Amino acid sequence: MATAKTSPRKRAKAKPLKSSASKAKSPAKLPISKDWTTRTHRGVTVLQSTALNKIPWLVHGFSTRPGGVSEIDNEKVLNLGAVEWDKRENVEENKRRFQSALGAEKLEFVSLHQIHSDVVRIFDATTSTAKQCKGDALATDRPGLLLGVRTADCSPILVVDPKKRVVAAIHAGWRGTLARIVVKTIGQMQMEFKSNPKDMLAAIGPTIGGCCYEVGTEVAADFSAKFSNASEFFDELRTGDEPNPLQWLNMMPPGHQPPPKKVLLDLKKANQLQLLEAGLREQNIFVTDLCTSCHVSHLFSYRKESTTSGRLLSVIALRR
Ligand SMILES: [Zn+2]
Repeated sequence: MATAKTSPRKRAKAKPLKSSASKAKSPAKLPISKDWTTRTHRGVTVLQSTALNKIPWLVHGFSTRPGGVSEIDNEKVLNLGAVEWDKRENVEENKRRFQSALGAEKLEFVSLHQIHSDVVRIFDATTSTAKQCKGDALATDRPGLLLGVRTADCSPILVVDPKKRVVAAIHAGWRGTLARIVVKTIGQMQMEFKSNPKDMLAAIGPTIGGCCYEVGTEVAADFSAKFSNASEFFDELRTGDEPNPLQWLNMMPPGHQPPPKKVLLDLKKANQLQLLEAGLREQNIFVTDLCTSCHVSHLFSYRKESTTSGRLLSVIALRR
């Protein structure tokens, strides 16, 4: 936690905290765990994996909320996706600042029209980047292409094969996770670029945590039908079909039982297990413990903020 860097300018500006109210208004620096670091440039803070950072020809980063030119209730935020409340020019300027914080101004940005699918798009030497296509994962061996995925609770996952020099960016919400988009992306990297999962490194960025992500029992039922290890990423694996043991105790007439309780889904854990299933080594997978909903003052959470939420952007590229 103490490893987070604070720019000298920020340190000079920081005022002593007098009350908890002022503390709530200007949150302290991003609480990051080991294996992670931050880089702050002109008010924009980027979260990075220290392992991926060591690769000299690699660019990668997960955006955070503060900085930027977009505004939510007089707060300047780095919104990096199309949302109703923000202007396209703001998003473009924010993206310039984010790329500049990464030293990636000159790279060509590529993203997809995300549809919560398992569609993987490969950008090889000949693929055109002119038109945005639909899908939820991108992979390339082409230096200079900055692959990006946008999230606000879903899992952003960045993958690199340092041997074959291939990178991928994945957007995995519960639908993409259920459709095994991570396993499919790794499979595509093997097929298209002859990558070996044993060589790959992967970083799972800020995602709504198992602490906050309530889903209906029907989602748990879908997962338990497709994943033998589903109990490892749900707090309780209930499918909604269980008899309610309290039914006769709570004296409610039939048909008036309380609705079945929600269950908690840990998307990061689910996707970490998929990376392992795909053949990555455990020590090569880096998972941030940041929950978008718990840390909404540093990130964006659609669950927490609904339509007033912005979008985070996670990117990866091979330097030219
Ligand atoms: Zn949480």
